[in-house]
Amino acid sequence: MSKQNILIIGAGLCGSLLALRMAQRGFEVTLVEKRPDLRKVTQDAGRSINLALSDRGLRGLRLAGVEEEAKKLCIPMNGRMIHDKAGNTFLSPYSGRKDEYINSISRPGLNMLLLDEAEKMPNVQLIFNHACEDVDLENASATFRNYNSKEEITISADAIFGTDGAGSAVRKNMFDSHKFLFSFSQQWLSHGYKELEIPAAENNGYRTYKNALHIWPRGEDMLIALPNLDGSFTVTLFLPYENSDYCFANLTSPEMVHEYFNKEFPDVVEMIPNLSEEFFGNPTGPLGTVKCSPWNSFGKVLLLGDAAHAIVPFYGQGMNASFEDVVVFDEILEKYTFEENINWNNFFKEYEALRKKDTDAIADLAVDNFHEMKEHTAMEIFQRKRKLETAFEAEFPEEYYSKYSLVTFKESITYSEALKRGRAQDKAILNLLDDGKIKDEMSLKEKLELVKKETEAILHDD
Ligand code: FAD
Repeated sequence: MSKQNILIIGAGLCGSLLALRMAQRGFEVTLVEKRPDLRKVTQDAGRSINLALSDRGLRGLRLAGVEEEAKKLCIPMNGRMIHDKAGNTFLSPYSGRKDEYINSISRPGLNMLLLDEAEKMPNVQLIFNHACEDVDLENASATFRNYNSKEEITISADAIFGTDGAGSAVRKNMFDSHKFLFSFSQQWLSHGYKELEIPAAENNGYRTYKNALHIWPRGEDMLIALPNLDGSFTVTLFLPYENSDYCFANLTSPEMVHEYFNKEFPDVVEMIPNLSEEFFGNPTGPLGTVKCSPWNSFGKVLLLGDAAHAIVPFYGQGMNASFEDVVVFDEILEKYTFEENINWNNFFKEYEALRKKDTDAIADLAVDNFHEMKEHTAMEIFQRKRKLETAFEAEFPEEYYSKYSLVTFKESITYSEALKRGRAQDKAILNLLDDGKIKDEMSLKEKLELVKKETEAILHDD
């Protein structure tokens, strides 16, 4: 067991799970967070207050022994409940296999659980209200400013982990250092997001179906809603910033907001009593993809979670991928713990070589799903495809996994494998449907064989 000192910067979802796991591995862990302790001070205004947690994320929680506790905070969502403009709904299951569903979980609830568990470890020190401002990348030390007193402290360690999210200060230090070649890209979507709330009905009842992720797909814009344990739903509006009939730039008055919602989402209006107050009171957030490389500098500092690979939220995989980072990290750590002094340089390189292609893949898949959710879920051909895939999964559960299932439920394959196979399958089914080659009179098995053959041909051509 290593007694090395580890400094983790950012006690969000990834940092607190990593701290817990590294403490379980015997490291001396200091976890520093810029914001106040969210177990004591209510915060998170404007950040997504619930998230979709699925198998890859659960695997990370299982590794640290907190899966069962986390499940107590979960609401299963079995499928997408699609709402059309006339207020009709239909449920599109996430999988044909009965035991495959995703979960809605409170972000602060999960974060608090992880902090509580980390705090129970005698070898974890938690420091709140300290923002990292500077990192000495070559000497593994970081300087933090106390939010209240404005005083500075410097903490040194054997290795530093930057888990400080999409706007990472640690990553910025790498970018600004000019001491090594650091590639960085940030791509914004033309859409932003805004959160609203459907409050609970009487006695913590739900105003719409509880066990689904609700979607109102409208082509360029989209509304989604995830249930909370108290009966409310967190609603997220995804809307272009500008250059559209309705966009954040022109929804400038309560009348405009009501006009827009009455036209596009009439069944939601009655469920959000404070629509315009919330619309104007809550911030609008940007949506972007961050890719960078290398993730480590001088074998002393490593980025994980959103700091290394922020993605758009449309696959519900950002947190799941960040938890999977901890799983992959831990698998490699297993090999290195026998060394008296871990060679972090080799370790970090091995980790990135294994992991980067997969986080790049989920970043691209998440952008794909943006289009699928806002446009395709409402299109007839995609609904036929979804129906067929659900039937394949129900009838031949061992033989067929849709792209969504490969990404969300099949944690034994990597994101990059899921991307390759999933995209080929999508192309195969859409081609076959479009060409009228999948005929009603065919048995389901014959249809499956046709799809498999076409998929293999596409994979072979690629
Ligand atoms: P964060 O959770 O952002 O944590 C970073 C922490 O570092 C924060 O506590 C922050 O205060 C702290 N910090 C920042 N700067 C400093 C500093 N200078 N010094 C010290 N501390 C610092 N993912 C899913 O899997 N499922 C979903 O359904 C989903 N929905 C989403 C919806 C939206 C609208 C958005 C924006 C994201 C969504 N995500 C989802 C993605 C998910 O939120 C992130 O992938 C996840 O939070 C990443 O965890 P993290 O710990 O790397 O970063």
